[in-house]
Amino acid sequence: MERFFDGMREGKLMASRCPGCGRVFLPPRMVCERCLTRAEDWVELPLTGSVETFTEAHVRLAPDGTLEDLEDPELIAMVRHDGADTCVAARLDAPQAAVGMRVEAVLDPGAENVLDLLSCYRAAE
Ligand SMILES: [Zn+2]
Repeated sequence: MERFFDGMREGKLMASRCPGCGRVFLPPRMVCERCLTRAEDWVELPLTGSVETFTEAHVRLAPDGTLEDLEDPELIAMVRHDGADTCVAARLDAPQAAVGMRVEAVLDPGAENVLDLLSCYRAAE
């Protein structure tokens, strides 16, 4: 995952690609679940993608590992980036969501916690 996190620190989304069948994994995976080949190739993907599915969250995981109630519910989207075969889940900063909605990743390259490097998604132009 280091290459993935380092990439986001440079404002890039790096995905792993299976040299056996060509599947592209974002978030990166070490081994392709289709053909069990090591997914050791790397490709840069665009920040844009489409919402595959979404849900509304009413709680979130607090830093101490407990669940805390959210004052306002948050949209959590599963986004398939253009060129990827898998999805990334993150908060969608939009008033509403729809399947197929075009979105773009908002990166926070200066985030202290690697889990915050992908800040959220927002509607793409
Ligand atoms: Zn494969």
